[in-house]
Amino acid sequence: MSILGDDDEALRGTPKGKLVVPEDVQEAIRTLIRWSGDNPDREGLLDTPARVGRAWKEYCQGYDEDPSVHLSRTFEEVGGYDEIVLLRDIPFQSHCEHHMAPIIGHAHIAYLPHSRVVGISKLARVLHGFARRLQIQERLTAEIADCIWTNLEPLGVAVVIHATHACMTARGVRTPGVGMTTSRMMGVFRDDDRSRKEVLSLMGLG
Ligand SMILES: [Zn+2]
Repeated sequence: MSILGDDDEALRGTPKGKLVVPEDVQEAIRTLIRWSGDNPDREGLLDTPARVGRAWKEYCQGYDEDPSVHLSRTFEEVGGYDEIVLLRDIPFQSHCEHHMAPIIGHAHIAYLPHSRVVGISKLARVLHGFARRLQIQERLTAEIADCIWTNLEPLGVAVVIHATHACMTARGVRTPGVGMTTSRMMGVFRDDDRSRKEVLSLMGLG
């Protein structure tokens, strides 16, 4: 599965469909390879700097987009629907800003519409728009919730993210399997116990 969205054309600069990676970026990666203890001039590593450069442009594609754009097209005709809308178990990948190591997890995103709803896939697009940047999980969680809160003006927003951090599982304290959960509750999900319980139970967390 490609992690690129509809507008991946923007990343493709050459006829072969490959983004040109500037020489200084490639040199930086060669320096890192040397520092790690290998020889960037050996055959197996010759194309690595360009590949790594392209990969990072893809990991950080979110810098080129404003996630709120995905919430600009709303539907007001909701047939009297006034219950929670939830997108559950959305897989995502991000990178921690402290080690530039992968953060891999799932998000549950819910809101209680006031008058407007969006196409359900748009919630996942908002997640990816913020995840494809250098992040910390706490800020990622807050940014998604705030974006929905501001743009849809719903009665409540609930975002719960569970993720593992390669900077913890593959280095440092090396604790494979340990995950981190963060949540942000706004509006009725923060103020009303019953609403919060309901949304957490729909998320499978109650
Ligand atoms: Zn880290």
